[in-house]
Amino acid sequence: MDIEMKQIAMPVQKRIALIAHDNMKQDLLDWTRKHIATLKQHKLFATGTTGHLLENKLQTPITKLISGPLGGDQQIGAMITEQKLDIIIFFWDPYEPMPHDPDVKALLRVAAVWNVAVACNRSTADFMISSPLLNELHPYKVPDYERYLEKRLGKTTG
Ligand code: PGA
Repeated sequence: MDIEMKQIAMPVQKRIALIAHDNMKQDLLDWTRKHIATLKQHKLFATGTTGHLLENKLQTPITKLISGPLGGDQQIGAMITEQKLDIIIFFWDPYEPMPHDPDVKALLRVAAVWNVAVACNRSTADFMISSPLLNELHPYKVPDYERYLEKRLGKTTG
C-alpha cells in the first residue's frame, strides 16, 4: 500500500506502555525494578494486571488500562493509532502462544504501521532504555492520515 508519511516528534518525556503475559510478569518486574530511576522520568502505562503488579511492587504511579484478555492490548493499540504512545515494552510469552496470538499479532501490526518502538524481550528493552534518544525530542515518521483519507476518498468517489 502506498502510504505517505509525515514527520512528527516523540516528546522528551516518553509515553511508555508495559505489558507482560502471566509467565513473563516476573521478568518484566525484574526489568522495571532495575530501570526504575529512568522509567520514573517518563509517563508509564500498562495493561490492568501488569499495571497493578508493577505499581504495588515499585511504588510508582502507572496509568492502568483494562486487563489484556478483556481488551487491554487493543486499548494500547488504539492509543498507538492516536499517537499517544512512543514505546511499547511487551514481554509476550513465546512458550504459550495460544490464546494470546491474535492479540499479539494485532498489537505488533499496529505498532509497525505507526512506527512505534517495540521491545519484545529483555535484550531489546535494555538497548531501548539505554538509548540517548530516550531523553531527546526525537523526530520520526508516521502515516499522514489526512493525506491517506484524501486519496482514498478521491478513489472511492472517482
Ligand atoms: P494483563 O494483560 O496485564 O492484564 O495480564 C496482559 C495480556 O495478557 O496481554
